[in-house]
Amino acid sequence: NNEKVNGPIAGSPPRGKEPGWNDNIGYFIKKRLSVWCRLPNGKWDLGKIQETLGDEATISLLSGTVVKVSTAELLPANPDILEGVDDLIQLSYLNEPSVLHNIKHRYAQDLIYSKAGPVLIAVNPFKEIAIYGNEILTSYKQKAKDSPHVYAIADAAYNEMMRDEKNQSIILSGESGAGKTETAKYAMQYLAALGCGNDNMVYEILQTNFILQAFGNAKTSRNNNSSRFSRVVQLANDERSYHIFYQLCAGAPSTLKDRLNLRMASEYKYLNQSECLVVDGVDDGMEFHKLVDALDVVQICKEDQEQAFAMLAAVLWLGNISFQVIDNENHVEVFTNEAVENAARLINCSAQDLMLALSTHKIQAGKDFIAKKLTMQKAIDRRDALAKFIYTRLFEWLVVQINKSVKVGELSTGRSISILDICGFESFKNNSFEQFCINYANERLQQHFNRHLFKLEQEEYEEDGIDWTKVDFEDNQECLNMFETKPLGLLSLLDEELNFPNATDLTFTNKLKQYFNDNPCFKGQRGRAFGVCHYAGEVIYDTNGFLEKNRDPMHSEFIHLLSSSGCQLPKSARLSCQFGGLETSIQSVATEFKSQLFKLMHQLDKTTPHFICCIKPNAKQFPGLYEDDLVSQQLRCCGVLEVVRISRYGYPTRMTHQEFAGRYGFLLTETNISWDPLSMSVAILKKNNFLPDMYEVGYTKVYLRMGQIERLEEQRKQFL
Ligand code: ADP
Ligand code: MG
Repeated sequence: NNEKVNGPIAGSPPRGKEPGWNDNIGYFIKKRLSVWCRLPNGKWDLGKIQETLGDEATISLLSGTVVKVSTAELLPANPDILEGVDDLIQLSYLNEPSVLHNIKHRYAQDLIYSKAGPVLIAVNPFKEIAIYGNEILTSYKQKAKDSPHVYAIADAAYNEMMRDEKNQSIILSGESGAGKTETAKYAMQYLAALGCGNDNMVYEILQTNFILQAFGNAKTSRNNNSSRFSRVVQLANDERSYHIFYQLCAGAPSTLKDRLNLRMASEYKYLNQSECLVVDGVDDGMEFHKLVDALDVVQICKEDQEQAFAMLAAVLWLGNISFQVIDNENHVEVFTNEAVENAARLINCSAQDLMLALSTHKIQAGKDFIAKKLTMQKAIDRRDALAKFIYTRLFEWLVVQINKSVKVGELSTGRSISILDICGFESFKNNSFEQFCINYANERLQQHFNRHLFKLEQEEYEEDGIDWTKVDFEDNQECLNMFETKPLGLLSLLDEELNFPNATDLTFTNKLKQYFNDNPCFKGQRGRAFGVCHYAGEVIYDTNGFLEKNRDPMHSEFIHLLSSSGCQLPKSARLSCQFGGLETSIQSVATEFKSQLFKLMHQLDKTTPHFICCIKPNAKQFPGLYEDDLVSQQLRCCGVLEVVRISRYGYPTRMTHQEFAGRYGFLLTETNISWDPLSMSVAILKKNNFLPDMYEVGYTKVYLRMGQIERLEEQRKQFL
């Protein structure tokens, strides 16, 4: 099929084609069945077809209004009895408006979870609803409840791990603020409770989460507790840096404050630049005490804790270091003040070494290195890079310590369940290198998702003796190839530019336009921009800054500085292994990203995946507000419509022969009724003149194409 899902940027939502639908319109008129009608403003509304004339249909909408639209703007609606089903696959018609309507209907009743086949959809309620906690957890554990829930997913993961002796993964997707991290916490809560029934372990795992959030989360404009990666040095208005900085400044006892020369958050440039120092309803000082408790629980000793806090203070003081121009070529020196003194002391190096590392760079001249003075902007970039470098090392160290403490992967079974909470597909007005990387990763995950779903479907059909080749399936391999092909892929070409001294973002873009001119996944744009047709829609990237952002940020001199300093902590984790490879090659950011992604995919490939798609129903973080456009856009990005699409091209109705014969057996004559269920199924289908393409008979089930079951249901209604 050639149906490509269009994203928000591309404009129009996909045309919800429904196989065989056009031949069915007459039937909908005759039976006065409801249809979805897309109005000129792009919104879907329910109505009934009065008549059609050629391609034009007259529709009376539920509101009473009568409109004329093209029949291409119509889609079949589901019968009322299917309103609010908990698995979208149960819908007779799986088109976009039907899916949207169903989720909305459920959301209005606080039913935030729904299934789309094997995928769990979670719509963020932005308020507390009483669907968590021990009692409910237990009822899922005892299988007393099976309505869609994150607990049910965690339960399935656990059971499959035990049954198949295979590692499992729970993969959360969704945009910022959609609820990935909260949902992951509930999954962990459930697993922890199952894991050993030991409250200590539950407690420890949840405390771990608290630590990771303090160091890894920040307030952004879209989420007060957003999981973030790099925001140590630059903040947008109304946003904060990582919680831990504010917690430390507000909550450190005075003795610790003295030892670290710590001031109030408002005195640090890295924190005060955004003019947002507090989060409504959060007491950072209190949070600091909770954090120290959590660090104790995971057995990070007091000495290491203090080292970690010293690194945080060092980062803050680095931000206060400034430079002065010393010649007419804009070369700079570090301003000697308490910021340098404090930062150097905390890093445990001499102020002299630090000043040199920040204001000069070494270049090789023959066998020797000479130090060359930096210009203002370069020096500032370098200072910020060092701050990020230290923070990153600190975070990595923390993860290693936590893993040691909770002994990840050392369950008595030797099996594991991984939870992946990754930044979802992003498509903004302005998309840069960060979105480029994130969307590339999501493209990979999407493929993982598609292939898994496809495999599941395929397995079910094959096991039941059905010819699978009739089901069409579109992969996103072509788009991935465009990123990954060597030497002429987006990533390789970007890396290649690093070797050309005169390369700029523009020369890079022009190369892309030249090489990918005929690639259907590529869209050349004016100037420095180019577009990629992702599975979730087209995204336009502005390459401004791409080359610089892709350059390796791990300046070897920092590594040198820190390694010769007396501070153990930042070098203990990954730093040591980086030393080894330093001489041979320093990787670009994109290449490093890709290799991490491949490692992740390799790990995921060995697991049975469980997918949770988190949806943010409105951008204001308000409870009870459901914005159709926003939701449909995310359903596309999460690949939920992809599940629907895969199912749509298959056989959405599946009934065992027993069920089928039991329900429609009345259509047969008495002689037939003594037959076995399979023969009865065949007889029912024959007797009702089902076209050969519209059904399949498996060993255990009858499979029907979209819209076929209605014909039998109609007869049943008349009969009863
Ligand atoms: P993400 O990780 O996708 O960026 P979060 O998990 O941090 O998003 O969720 C953002 C906010 O939404 C949370 O701080 C919380 O207020 C709210 N939220 C998310 N999921 C739930 C839920 N299941 N119940 C109640 N509130 C939720
Ligand atoms: Mg998060």
